[in-house]
Amino acid sequence: MKCSKCGEKAVLSGPALCRKHFISYFEKKVAGTVKKYHLIGPGNSICVATSGGKDSTAVLYIMKKIFPKNKLSALAIDEGIRGYRDKTLADLRHFCLKEKIPLNVVSFKKEFGRSLDEILSTKKLKLKPCNICGTLRRYLLNKHSRGFDVIVTGHNLDDESQAIVMNLFRNQIEVLARLGPRTGVSERKSFTQRVKPLYFCSEKESALYALLMGFDVSFNECPYVVYSYRADVRDLLNDYESSHKGTKVNIVESFMDILPNLKKRYADSTIVRCSVCGEPSSNQVCNVCRLVSGIGKIR
Ligand code: SF4
Ligand code: ZN
Repeated sequence: MKCSKCGEKAVLSGPALCRKHFISYFEKKVAGTVKKYHLIGPGNSICVATSGGKDSTAVLYIMKKIFPKNKLSALAIDEGIRGYRDKTLADLRHFCLKEKIPLNVVSFKKEFGRSLDEILSTKKLKLKPCNICGTLRRYLLNKHSRGFDVIVTGHNLDDESQAIVMNLFRNQIEVLARLGPRTGVSERKSFTQRVKPLYFCSEKESALYALLMGFDVSFNECPYVVYSYRADVRDLLNDYESSHKGTKVNIVESFMDILPNLKKRYADSTIVRCSVCGEPSSNQVCNVCRLVSGIGKIR
């Protein structure tokens, strides 16, 4: 197959593009999402939540390219997943050094007294690994991005279509209302505005971009992902996409249509300060402090 722009050998079939034109297509798509949804303003300070994986490395690189004059820093959470996170963090350190991007690594061990591996080995919790990990990680990302105007994440179209379907399947409409390319509560100083520039880029596209750019990233998966509900939904959507092309885009685009109404409906949810740790929370005691007291003293 030939590139529809120049006739060179295509690296992607839909759209048919060669290496050079695919890279430009992908970067333009990301920049277009940033512009269309007003994700980042001209002078905004940018904190990029990174893991060393393909999506966050791609978004980190493109943010630096689009906003060369803005204050930009990478933030990584070391959950403490032996044989997995140590490898991706090594790749990330190498990448940030090469690109001269400041990197802040925050660990579960230091913040909560135990790594994720250690927390899971206590077997006191009924929750699945990803529920624990996600709750603790979101908390740390918000806490350590304070002072930045935005926190950028590498969520792509596949991630978002999975999140939409998961919340529908579980009847969690209020959680659904918190999705979208711009999330977080910008008007409340305690939450950093979260933005997702890869919102309309598929997993396949972002993997191809990382590969063609020669980023030193691992394509291995976290060993705990197999226990997650998300993995079931991901497999289901991948199966469905292979027989009904366009399903994931359709899910996200339909969702974008109803999102303004969902946001209006759930606009009143109140945010208070957690009475234990002082971080923002929708309950008197935040999810992290409740989790911590469920495990026993880990701080
Ligand atoms: Fe954490 Fe689950 Fe992601 Fe692994 S797959 S890093 S446990 S959220
Ligand atoms: Zn708390």
